[in-house]
Amino acid sequence: MSDYSRPKGTQDFLPEVQPYWEYVRTIVADLAREYGFERIDTPIFETTELFARGVGDATDIVEKEMYSFEDRGGNPITLRPEFTAGVVRAYIENGLRVQPKPIKLYSIGPIFRHEQPQAGRFRQFHQFNAEIIGTPSPLADLEIMLLAWDLYDRLQFRGLSFQLNSTGCPTCRPRYVDALVAHYHTHQDRICEDCQRRLQRNPLRVLDCKQAQCQPVIAAAPKISEHLCDDCAGHFSELLGYLDALGKPFTLNHRLVRGLDYYTKTVFEVWAEGIGAQAAVCGGGRYDGLIALLGGPETPAVGFAAGLERIIMVMEAQEVPVPPLPTPPVLIAHLGAVTRLEAVRLLAALREAGIGVQIAMSKSLKSQLRQADKAAARWVLILGGDELARGEVTVRDMASGSQQTISREGIVAWISEQLQHPA
Ligand code: ATP
Ligand code: MG
Repeated sequence: MSDYSRPKGTQDFLPEVQPYWEYVRTIVADLAREYGFERIDTPIFETTELFARGVGDATDIVEKEMYSFEDRGGNPITLRPEFTAGVVRAYIENGLRVQPKPIKLYSIGPIFRHEQPQAGRFRQFHQFNAEIIGTPSPLADLEIMLLAWDLYDRLQFRGLSFQLNSTGCPTCRPRYVDALVAHYHTHQDRICEDCQRRLQRNPLRVLDCKQAQCQPVIAAAPKISEHLCDDCAGHFSELLGYLDALGKPFTLNHRLVRGLDYYTKTVFEVWAEGIGAQAAVCGGGRYDGLIALLGGPETPAVGFAAGLERIIMVMEAQEVPVPPLPTPPVLIAHLGAVTRLEAVRLLAALREAGIGVQIAMSKSLKSQLRQADKAAARWVLILGGDELARGEVTVRDMASGSQQTISREGIVAWISEQLQHPA
């Protein structure tokens, strides 16, 4: 046992799980490109103030989940607990607003939240995040939702559906919040302590409380859909019309909320079958107020984020086949000190020709062949004393076990020629 273990809630991604990650990253990049999203990479850490404002002081993330510290210069720094605030900061700071709208950006990378680790919940995890900035059109909401949908569809997730709500806007939401708070005040004695606090700080959040005692109060709560202004109601019904036209299954979920003023209108999740407690595989929505809040011009925007660990968990559980990562097709085995010089020359010659190759590093042929097996090499090129003397190489086909002899001058061309044909 090592004296050190990884920090709670983190993971080592060993080579054996990398094919899953590579596969998911490839699908994400292909999909984003097909949808016309460009990649943006922002720093893994930002000023703490950015997240306090951009995620919101009254959120669980800012209240209790951030990895925040002072750096050596005494600057308050936070490891990003989500992508959007950093992307919006970059949008403003780099003057992207002068470009024709909408601006469609995606990111993929690690996210940090100090949560209680459990199945599918980590302290360092990874998200695929996408934003459409600069348009109020419900088509943008639709495109974000379709992008999220197609991601899971392409990964062969089954039983997909949208959970959907509108959280209104600063015009209509305050009236709804008043009605909600009034309802809760008549049930003050039946709700959990967290909800008592939420009522003060961030009342909409009572709707996604998971405590059993709060469920009847939530069930009887007024619904925001009955309080939307004309603009929000029109936006929502246009979006629903598109989803209907495409035959995408959705459930109106009155409990789906974001607690903060700059989240507006659409909020959604994608749910998938067979992933138990983590039924939501991703979440997103519109945030028309955020860019102005962070110092930019009034700019509407919509986005979503998907957790990649949960995707991979499901793929492993459902044994979704993923292609193996490519390995070098050739391994050079050598027998005896004199052959080694020739072996490294052959190694260099093959690489010069653009052929993937490794050289064995143990002395016995048996363990060299074992290495070839593990490396999934297609051929082992064996250089023994006899081969060296005759100017030849023995080629062992690892799949069939058959061997043949090829001249040293001809071997690079022979391998190249073979590689033109699929194995
Ligand atoms: P949850 O309700 O599961 O806590 P959330 O509302 O905090 O999710 P978002 O902030 O919307 O989630 O993040 C989007 C996605 O990121 C989630 O749907 C999930 O797939 C993933 N995610 C969130 N927190 C974690 C975590 N601690 N570990 C792994 N994945 C996570
Ligand atoms: Mg969470």
